[in-house]
Amino acid sequence: MNRFEYLRPASVEDAVAAAATPGAAYLSGGTNLLDLMKVGVATPSTLVDVTRLPGLDVIEALPGGGLRIGAMARNSDVARHPDVLARAPMVAEALLSGASAQLRNAARVGGNILQHPRALLSGGIAGEPREHAVLGWTEACRSVHPSDFCVPLVALGASVEIAGIGGRREVALRDFFSLPDGAEEAFPALGPGELLTALLLPAGIEAFAAHARYVKLRERTSFAFALVSAAAALEIEGGTIARARLALGGVAHRPWRTDAAEALLTGNAPSAAIFAEAAALALADARPSGDNAFKIELARRTAARALALAAAGTPARMPALPASPFDAEYGAPAHV
Ligand SMILES: Cc1cc2nc3c(=O)[nH]c(=O)nc-3n(C[C@H](O)[C@H](O)[C@H](O)COP(=O)(O)OP(=O)(O)OC[C@H]3O[C@@H](n4cnc5c(N)ncnc54)[C@H](O)[C@@H]3O)c2cc1C
Repeated sequence: MNRFEYLRPASVEDAVAAAATPGAAYLSGGTNLLDLMKVGVATPSTLVDVTRLPGLDVIEALPGGGLRIGAMARNSDVARHPDVLARAPMVAEALLSGASAQLRNAARVGGNILQHPRALLSGGIAGEPREHAVLGWTEACRSVHPSDFCVPLVALGASVEIAGIGGRREVALRDFFSLPDGAEEAFPALGPGELLTALLLPAGIEAFAAHARYVKLRERTSFAFALVSAAAALEIEGGTIARARLALGGVAHRPWRTDAAEALLTGNAPSAAIFAEAAALALADARPSGDNAFKIELARRTAARALALAAAGTPARMPALPASPFDAEYGAPAHV
């Protein structure tokens, strides 16, 4: 590991000023960044530790509906927070499906959003071709966004709050992640020193809480990234789908929201046939980027399954899977 400076600023303003200098990087839980530093992929000259900035770990239900989740909140604290369970249970389900209990205790949600796409570890197009993207990829970049958490967030229309030298701004999460364009790798659009301070879930998400699920397919039960995943949420009124949300993970360089599939579902009664049709539409533009054609069919089935599980109702208690069977939270309320 290279030598680096370590700073622990006392305010967001000081953090932004420190991180705006060339070669500086923010340090939150370090579960992604320190791994990259150990293998020489990331070589920051200064680490700006933002884990103890006051107020950045607060999780709160907003008065008009929705949620505000501080970027420094721990993955495990967000997953078991009563307001998150009540208003956005599939966000908790997605967080509990990620990594391990130990990593979730160390990792922060801001770092989860900004974790590096895994294929970048080996140069953009290397790595396991069977894990690569099937939507929105280019020859230069076939890596997938590794986060579970971001998939339900994009489905629910979340935005991110960003602090910079010029003040604060808000960006829709789905626009925060760009897709690769031609020969270029794609990265979230953050200017020099910009710090993610919070995630905002809009008013109205509560309407989906009774019918919302996150389904993750992976090579082994625990401690593994998604091969494919789907976050599905339905607002069902009088036997009809009044509003639908569907986003896919593990298929592209960003969590993949499926507007056309959502529009198809709206106004229909929940049924296996309409779920299969919507899932097929969600994957209509998919094409293999290597030895991974199987992912298209797998994602299609995962999307249909997530929709069917959502229609059946959010379980009263968190299921044993996708959370680790060894997790002490097994059996915790999933929807209250
Ligand atoms: C073995 C293993 C398995 C894992 N499995 C999963 C999984 O199944 N699903 C999943 O979703 N994740 C998984 N992860 C990823 C883990 O959840 C994320 O690494 C974690 O959430 C990142 O948070 P962190 O606080 O540790 O980030 P860090 O490592 O501290 O930071 C990650 C990156 O984000 C930047 N950054 C951090 N916070 C901010 C901020 N507020 N503003 C601007 N930039 C910032 C850092 O500079 C760095 O570049 C796994 C990780 C490991 C090591």
